[in-house]
Amino acid sequence: MTKWKLGLLALLVCALTAVVVDAALGGGSDGGNSTVTRVIKVVHPAQLPARQEPVTRVPTKSATPKQMPPATKTPPRKSLPLEGKTISVDPGHNGGNFTHPEAIARPVPAGANGTTKPCNTTGTETDDGSLTEAQFNWDVAQDLVPRLKELGARVVLTRHSNQGVGPCVDERAGIANRAHASVDLAIHADGNLAEGAHGFDVIHPSAAESVAPGMVAPSLQLAEAERNALVEAGVPPADYVGEDGLDERSDLAGLNLAKEPAVLVELGNMREPEEAAKLEDPAYRRKLADALAAGIVVFLSRN
Ligand SMILES: [Zn+2]
Repeated sequence: MTKWKLGLLALLVCALTAVVVDAALGGGSDGGNSTVTRVIKVVHPAQLPARQEPVTRVPTKSATPKQMPPATKTPPRKSLPLEGKTISVDPGHNGGNFTHPEAIARPVPAGANGTTKPCNTTGTETDDGSLTEAQFNWDVAQDLVPRLKELGARVVLTRHSNQGVGPCVDERAGIANRAHASVDLAIHADGNLAEGAHGFDVIHPSAAESVAPGMVAPSLQLAEAERNALVEAGVPPADYVGEDGLDERSDLAGLNLAKEPAVLVELGNMREPEEAAKLEDPAYRRKLADALAAGIVVFLSRN
């Protein structure tokens, strides 16, 4: 390609892309004798700013609460099985009762018909004396109370250490009654000398001495729930007292004076060496406590 042809091509490209010469428009004030040059800038569509869409206004009055997105709320906490319930836990006897025989021998009201009983007793102990019943009852309560609280219950205890004396049996019932307890559970262990006698029994009140006869039937239901829970946990029912792990009695002040469903559990026989060894095992005590809590949950889920 010759030099002059290249020059001509460059001139042509320049004219097409940048400038259009619009000559001799005519009609101007100078009578069409002048030449006006109009410059048109060529812009590619991609360089255009985005089109502004017209704003659609939603009238605020039409936004009724039903159309509003639901407010973000914390999901309600799942209620615990014993929420709203008060459980009275009565660890039988007390570690200091041995030292105050006269105080604990004082007669106190024990039933609906004017009967009396000693304020408290010392309880039994293992044959080798390594574990007193008062200590065992206290230890089980120490496992049971946190378990009940974990399940949502409010717990009242009839004593707060294993070093004190009493309280008397009528006062123990009074503590549960004043707390408007849903359940009154007394924890004990037995001291039976019969060869090989072992197992638990759940004692429930009889109408004969109860100050609240309407509580006799629910107390039996509570006893059955506790019996079933203990059996399910592998704890054997007593082979020397009661029937199928249940025992109705009218001579226990705590049960007679209770104005709520009440039972007294004898969790084993401390005078039987094999069972005593189990009762001394912390893991076994925890198993007993868990079973007692489970029985309470079953009973209160039906009542
Ligand atoms: Zn006892």
